[in-house]
Amino acid sequence: MIKRSIVLSIIFLMFFLLGGCSAQPTEIEKKAENGRLDLTQYDLNNQIIALDGDWAFYWNQLLEPASIDQGTLSAYVPFPSSWNKYQIDDEKIPGSGYATYRLKFTAADNQILALKIPKVRTAYKLFINGEPITTVGTIGTTRETMVPKYQPQVVAFNAVSGENEIVLEVSNFYRPSGGLLNSIQLGGESQLLTIRYFGLTYELFLFGALMMMGVYHLALFCFRRKDRAPLYFGLFCTLVAIRTLFIGEAFLFSFFQNLNFEIIYKVQTLSFYLGVPLILMFFRSILPQYFNPLIVRTTQIIAGVYTLVVLFTPTWIAAIINPLYQIWTVLMIIYLFAMLIKIALHREKNSGLIILGGLFLIATCLMDIITLSPWISDNWLSFLQTIFQGDANSSTGQLIFAVLYSLLLAKTFTESLEQRTVMSEQLAEMNDHLDELVAQRTRELTASNDRIEQQNYELELINHELQRLSLRDPLTELWNRRKYDETIVMEWNRCLRQHRPISLLFIDVDYFKNYNDLYGHVAGDATLIKIGNTLRTALSRPTDMVVRYGGEEFIVLLAETDKEEALSNAHRLLKKVEALAIPHEGSVVKNCITVSIGVATLLPDHHSRHEDLVKMADEALYQAKSNGRNQVVTLNQ
Ligand code: GH3
Ligand code: MG
Ligand code: MG
Repeated sequence: MIKRSIVLSIIFLMFFLLGGCSAQPTEIEKKAENGRLDLTQYDLNNQIIALDGDWAFYWNQLLEPASIDQGTLSAYVPFPSSWNKYQIDDEKIPGSGYATYRLKFTAADNQILALKIPKVRTAYKLFINGEPITTVGTIGTTRETMVPKYQPQVVAFNAVSGENEIVLEVSNFYRPSGGLLNSIQLGGESQLLTIRYFGLTYELFLFGALMMMGVYHLALFCFRRKDRAPLYFGLFCTLVAIRTLFIGEAFLFSFFQNLNFEIIYKVQTLSFYLGVPLILMFFRSILPQYFNPLIVRTTQIIAGVYTLVVLFTPTWIAAIINPLYQIWTVLMIIYLFAMLIKIALHREKNSGLIILGGLFLIATCLMDIITLSPWISDNWLSFLQTIFQGDANSSTGQLIFAVLYSLLLAKTFTESLEQRTVMSEQLAEMNDHLDELVAQRTRELTASNDRIEQQNYELELINHELQRLSLRDPLTELWNRRKYDETIVMEWNRCLRQHRPISLLFIDVDYFKNYNDLYGHVAGDATLIKIGNTLRTALSRPTDMVVRYGGEEFIVLLAETDKEEALSNAHRLLKKVEALAIPHEGSVVKNCITVSIGVATLLPDHHSRHEDLVKMADEALYQAKSNGRNQVVTLNQ
């Protein structure tokens, strides 16, 4: 809401300035008829009159006041107007040529009055009451003899009571249209000067404002090359600014008295030729989806060709091809207008600003074309003049366009900056959160890693236990048969390599079936455990191995042990079991638990196998049983 009111106040300010520009002392509404104007009842010192109406016109004659009555009056013509629109003898006259204008007006008193003379195309000499008052450029009857010059000015003269005569000799061979496009004003000198200075000030203000905007946007582009919109916009503003110095009170001509006319013409024409593609490129850069690249490209090419023509050929060639460019421009204006409607219909973002600014631009461009075109009717021109009052106003329109669009650019620029700030804030926030998130995830991961490590450790323990269990006999916790099968191979080979003997004791509990029957299975188990413990603790070497081979049978493997040592061990074990003194009423040999032991010893070689060792011990055991049990037997080999 606030933004909108700022925009509106800027527009109002512009209109105020525009109005101020045309604020003039009271104007007298009276037209000349047949080259005469009666102003006797007016206070000309305090009022201003535009000397419009019918002036006497002498075509192709340069007549000084003394000889003007000998001249042939061509017609009374409407003034001001380019003379191209006059018909002399039912024929339109060309732009190039020369002529004399005359107006007689009657004043009430002798007084000092002034004339405010606009640009005259393209040289003139002014006489009042027979006196030469001013000359701008050099008039002549050919292109070669005349020197063109623009110099809007205010000139003072002595008006006499009664009839006064204004004679104006004009020649033009340098512009497509000749004569005066704006009124000559009559009034008090100070008032007319005020109008002129006001106009100059206003045009300089326009120049400054547009130039500032142009330079600002060009600088903006320099700092941020990615976005082309400020470049085109800046160039356009600069072009319009430069153009402002040539129009209206034409500050540039007052400042530089001897400007080359060709150069002026070229600069002015180029500002128009280059403005059209720049505007299209600008619109395409801010609204690429609406503006066809082919059309923009075509305009660029046409403008390029025209620019080359203007730069490198005489001005008259440019003047001939100019209308075609104006037609193309009108087409582009229609195109721009259509796109503005489309933008409005699509309710594009900021469409209010876009459309308002666009309409100002379109209006001013049309105005320029109409003002500068020799092929558009004078009625049109005067109609537009009543609306806009002078050609400086087209620059006002362009300034309004420039202000609105620089607001638009500033707005989009700020918005994108804001968006970037928000985005970077969001990113920073996300980054912060990310740190937190990463920290949390790390904590979780570490915890789960610890858990896994713990689980692994436990698993390892379990595995270990499982392995232990798989190789141990669950009842006695002695090595089981599987472990024996593994170990015997190793030990056998070791002894084979070292040429050492290996011995094996096969131990079987005597009458154990009876024991079970008598004391029960549970007691049997307990006895087996005790025997197992006794066997294990009785052996000291780390390589000695006690195995529960099955049921109530045990094996003791003694690596690197010869027969004698094995026998002595066997006897020792036999004694230890007996020493347990486990009562066994079912035993035939004794009243306590006893064992029988078969002993076998081998020196491993490539012909023997470890299975032989068990087999031999088994046979010895069998012998021990047969011999009455509770004894150690070894077979003689
Ligand atoms: P021998 O003196 O000829 O060796 O007679 P024995 O009764 O000891 O021999 P036999 O082979 O006929 O019987 C072995 C018995 O051992 C049979 C079974 O009841 C008992 N036995 C085998 N394993 C276990 C065990 O794990 N626990 C218990 N309590 N008894 C077992
Ligand atoms: Mg047995
Ligand atoms: Mg037995």
